[in-house]
Amino acid sequence: MGTLLLLASLVALLIGLAVGKAWERYKLQDGIWVDRRRARESPHYMLGLNFLVANQIDPAIAELTKAAHAAGDPLEIHLILGNLYREKGQVGRAIQEHQSLLQRPNLRKLEHANVLLCLGLDYRRGGFVDRAIEAFTEVLRLDPQNQYALSNLEKLHEEQHQWHEAYATRQKLAALPGASEESPRHSEILAFLEFELGQDALKRMDYADAARRFEAAIDLDARNAPAHLSLGDVRFYEGKTADAVSAWERLIDASPERAYLAFSRLEGAYPKMSAPDRFPALCERLITANPQDWRARLALARHLSAQGRPTDAIELLFEAIGHNPHALALHQTIWQTLSTLNLPADLVGRYIELTRDAIFYLDPHICVRCRYRSTELLWQCPHCHEWNTFVEERIAPAKQSAEV
Ligand SMILES: [Zn+2]
Repeated sequence: MGTLLLLASLVALLIGLAVGKAWERYKLQDGIWVDRRRARESPHYMLGLNFLVANQIDPAIAELTKAAHAAGDPLEIHLILGNLYREKGQVGRAIQEHQSLLQRPNLRKLEHANVLLCLGLDYRRGGFVDRAIEAFTEVLRLDPQNQYALSNLEKLHEEQHQWHEAYATRQKLAALPGASEESPRHSEILAFLEFELGQDALKRMDYADAARRFEAAIDLDARNAPAHLSLGDVRFYEGKTADAVSAWERLIDASPERAYLAFSRLEGAYPKMSAPDRFPALCERLITANPQDWRARLALARHLSAQGRPTDAIELLFEAIGHNPHALALHQTIWQTLSTLNLPADLVGRYIELTRDAIFYLDPHICVRCRYRSTELLWQCPHCHEWNTFVEERIAPAKQSAEV
């Protein structure tokens, strides 16, 4: 029975219902296992699935095609065949296969929805955005709780920068039964979509609407860093420096690990409020709270250098490089500072000693979902399109990793 279970999940995967829930409903409501008995009795069916397990798509297609003929062309095998053509990149063939299924008489509602779902995936793969949106929308008319159609639709709207539609779709996903298990993620994503709506308002120079959107994003998820940053920017454009500063400071309270995103803004704004000492004080506070914070040290060092205190700056930079030896910005700032000091031999010697085993990285940000790498922090992954999945990859220096 274990084999059957494996095959069942494999077939669910092939149909494209990676989530599995829709497939479960389909299976239960339509008694598909009864329909498929004839297909399963064909040796070609089993052979085809075996080839699939071995990831040999072409022989799998050959065997499943024979199995389909032998069993009177059951809908479901053709559904799978279409999906296999799509996986091979033969989108036209996949569309043809799936479209011909729509011509069948007496399609049950959920069968119809499943064919349209696969067709939508074909269109999406082929880049036929409008037709894909149309197909997924039609799936939802037949099966309003189809999670897979909703997620695909959301991604398509996001790609088109149709943030209102993406937002509405995510709300529907959040309202699905069982969705509450994932509710923090829903609010997190809705906050990013709200933030994007705010960015659009900002482009129209509609500051009032932009500020409302950014505040709504923060209400949805207080840790949404770009909304705090942009809310501060709006206040700053409006000439409300104190409000801008408090928005940026709230980012630091909510997610201190993202504090550095507000550094240059705050460093520029504090003197306008006649409070230039607040910036070094902020950096000191962050360093005390998190001794590993190399960015606060870098910011403070640059600030001290600009104040004519390169010797104090270099000590901070040496501490910082101990925490993150592969941050290029640190090395650059160290060399600038060392040259301001006319390259004193003792300090240059310390630098060489500190960085003996350092590895240099230009792309330390990595998507935890798909491992995509980026030199800068991104809010949405350009590869897997997931929101807020980037972390900063750090490799501890060899000496420290042994201690920790
Ligand atoms: Zn990714």
